[in-house]
Amino acid sequence: MEYDIIFVLGERYFDHPLCGIAILKRWLEKNGYSVGVIETPNNSEDIKKLGKPRLFFGVSSGAMDSMVRNYTALKREREKDEFLGYEKKAPDRAVTVYCNWIKEKFKDSLIVIGGTEATLRRFSHYDYWDNEIRKSILFDSRADILVYGPGEKQILEIAEKVKNKKELREIKGTCIKTREKKEGFIELPNHEEILESKEKFCTMQNLLSNWENLAQKTGNFYVLQYESPRYTSKDLDEYYELGFTRRLDNKMKGFDFSVVTHRGCIGNCNFCSLRLTMGDKIVSRSEESIIREIKSFTKMPNFKGVVDDLGGPSANMYGMDCFLCKKECINCSKLDRSNKKMISLLKKVREIPGVKKVFVRSGIRYDLANEEYLRELKHHISGKLKIAPEHVNKKILQLMNKDKGNLEEFIKKFKEAGGGDLAFYFMTCHPGSSMKEAKELKEKIKQLKNAESVQIFTPTPMTVSTCMYYTELNPATKEKIYVPKTFREKKEQKRILGLKDYRKK
Ligand code: SF4
Repeated sequence: MEYDIIFVLGERYFDHPLCGIAILKRWLEKNGYSVGVIETPNNSEDIKKLGKPRLFFGVSSGAMDSMVRNYTALKREREKDEFLGYEKKAPDRAVTVYCNWIKEKFKDSLIVIGGTEATLRRFSHYDYWDNEIRKSILFDSRADILVYGPGEKQILEIAEKVKNKKELREIKGTCIKTREKKEGFIELPNHEEILESKEKFCTMQNLLSNWENLAQKTGNFYVLQYESPRYTSKDLDEYYELGFTRRLDNKMKGFDFSVVTHRGCIGNCNFCSLRLTMGDKIVSRSEESIIREIKSFTKMPNFKGVVDDLGGPSANMYGMDCFLCKKECINCSKLDRSNKKMISLLKKVREIPGVKKVFVRSGIRYDLANEEYLRELKHHISGKLKIAPEHVNKKILQLMNKDKGNLEEFIKKFKEAGGGDLAFYFMTCHPGSSMKEAKELKEKIKQLKNAESVQIFTPTPMTVSTCMYYTELNPATKEKIYVPKTFREKKEQKRILGLKDYRKK
């Protein structure tokens, strides 16, 4: 069979809405395209498996950057990790490697790159593993176009344009490499400037946004970013109800009947890449669509009445949709903090005939959870409720952009609501953290007793915290900050906390 589009994926493929490529495949099929998937190819011969696509290859490392997936924060190759279901399946810099294999076997085939790795490497970026600034991944991969963020709208537009032999220009949510300068685009400091100046790197960081047309000169080329398209509730309802078989393999068992309620995160934590991957505005599905999806489970033979998870990046951001401006929602008085939509949804889903239990296993943002929500949530907790305060030192929390909550107050509220046990997650070695701050965290952990795990900060490409790590400056103020960089200090900052690390650093 000759496919219109062939996806090459650096992780396992599942016909399940938790797999981004599965959504794209079903969405394209619904719109009349035939789609094949090659999962975790081992060499260029594997790329030939399904022949040459009529329109293009779509390449993605999957939900994680391949370097983050393959290496620990101390740059050790990650071993097989039962807890994360991790096995090395994709090569380092998977997107570039796959594109080179495609070029080797199908020289003139068009290549579209997307997913987390492409999204976080769309402009010049600091690469922790090479300890250097790399150019946009459009250069190394030699791909024709890059899709950033969620990709359903972009991939369909690209398919239509390629089918109709139109140029791949002006597509919202994509980046291209071109020789022409474009008017009306915000210009980032060019690649050569940021190689020379850490201040310029900070300037670039402060300008990064999914909501702007951006341009960056690199040598004789410009990398152009067309602003992100707006995804709506209606769009998400359509994507998540595409009739997936939901079959997962044994390693993913326990998530079969997970339901995605929304996309995006308004938290804007500086160490997190969600702002650039999923976006910093919430888009929630309609209540009706979520209920329809859960009702459809009750007709599946393997459904035992348990919804494994009802959530998104932070479960309680459901319903906090607002697109009035491009500013940071978490600080805004207009943000709907009532939790009413989430509460209403929880009440309704547990009344669906055939549903015995609905779990909320996604973490929650504790500073956005009110008493009424917590009283409701206690019906939906499986084991302990996961909370990620990340740190306790005010200065570190400010550098993380996570200083709005009051942990003590939340614990009190949670107990009063009869919520059960909490599991706390922390991060050490974030820029700003010396042994002094690590010791402060240690004291708090002793007091809390039920701290679950700690991770060493990993500088993933294009985050604000990674900018701090590389420049040793706070990009917001350009003030100098202390950054723990040696492995010896990182190990020591982690060791004194006396906690296990679920990611085996
Ligand atoms: S008005 Fe406030 S809540 Fe709405 S988008 Fe702007 S910052 Fe976010």
